[in-house]
Amino acid sequence: MTKTAFITGITGQDGAYLAKFLLEKGYRVAGLLPRRSTSNLWRLEYLNIADEVEYRDGDVLDLSSLIRAVKAVKPDEVYHLAAQSFVGSSWEQPILTAEVTGMGVLHMLEAIREVDPGIKMYQASSSELYGLIQEPMQSEQTPFYPRSPYAVSKLFGYWMTKNYRESFGMFASNGILFNHESPLRGLEFVTRKVTYTVAQIVAGRKKELRLGNIHAKRDWGFAGDYVEAMWLMLQQEKPDDYVIATGTTTTVEEMCKIAFDYVGLNYQDYLVIDPQLFRPAEVDVLLGNPAKAKRELGWMPKTGLQELIHMMVEADLQRVKQA
Ligand code: NDP
Ligand code: GDP
Repeated sequence: MTKTAFITGITGQDGAYLAKFLLEKGYRVAGLLPRRSTSNLWRLEYLNIADEVEYRDGDVLDLSSLIRAVKAVKPDEVYHLAAQSFVGSSWEQPILTAEVTGMGVLHMLEAIREVDPGIKMYQASSSELYGLIQEPMQSEQTPFYPRSPYAVSKLFGYWMTKNYRESFGMFASNGILFNHESPLRGLEFVTRKVTYTVAQIVAGRKKELRLGNIHAKRDWGFAGDYVEAMWLMLQQEKPDDYVIATGTTTTVEEMCKIAFDYVGLNYQDYLVIDPQLFRPAEVDVLLGNPAKAKRELGWMPKTGLQELIHMMVEADLQRVKQA
């Protein structure tokens, strides 16, 4: 029988890759579409699936719209990806971030509880929960120490998901995903900012790359690999929480070098450190331990950082050429 998935945040990076993945598995896919003044389907169009998805008007801030959408779509699985997802903006818009990234999760859980508590739900939790890390390698057992309004909001969502599982027996799982990138990553995130700027430099449209803390380390993977883990979590017998990561960590500076090396340029000739881009509180290093996901989900990342950054630079070279 055909399964139905409902994705919030379907217009975002992960929403687009997940929709494609589920369509290829034969799912009927519906997505929540918040009202915006201009169309934001570009990622779904990039993957050639914009016409294969059903859209439901709604916003995670509006519980009634979620209840209506869940009633109409009748999903087997809900993937709750919608969020104000950029850590940097969360200091400028902390209240909006708390509402969308935190309360939005509770709205989704409530909508499911109200309409059909048998619907399975995936919650997009984040490695940002670990923030000021309490262990060199972070696993499902590592205590959290969030370091931004974004991370504090995600902490609320994480515990609400766990609480609804324990209180009402709902199948609700947290994926604690470490940073994952792709050619569809938003331009405000550091990987995409670097790969897009490299393409602009190659085209002669930019002369420098301005960055903040280049010593920060992240465990970067490919979004296309990570959406499979989301799906696998909802195919298990029992709901649970899983770290999804590569198990390697790299500095922002080294990631930059990979991008510039690919086009035969020396990053040091273009990099400018801009103190304005430093954050009020930094997450210095993240390194995930995906052992549980490997053991229980049979999931492993397929794409290494060099391959990922090359893929992103290549896509941006094409985009800049066509612009
Ligand atoms: P994006 O920022 O690319 O996508 C966010 C999505 O949320 C967009 O579709 C956006 O719609 C939607 N959205 C924002 N506000 C609302 C709202 N009020 N109502 C309904 N939808 C809304 O994020 P990613 O795809 O990268 O990430 C997906 C999820 O995973 C997010 O929750 C993120 O925090 C989390 N995550 C991401 C990681 C990563 O490295 N990518 C790591 C760990 C967790 P619109 O574009 O119209 O605003
Ligand atoms: P995050 O891990 O979700 O905050 O993902 P980002 O891609 O936004 O940031 C990753 C790291 O890169 C953080 O430690 C940032 O401080 C660092 N960084 C350094 N310069 C920049 C920059 O210009 N933009 C962004 N977004 N991050 C930067």
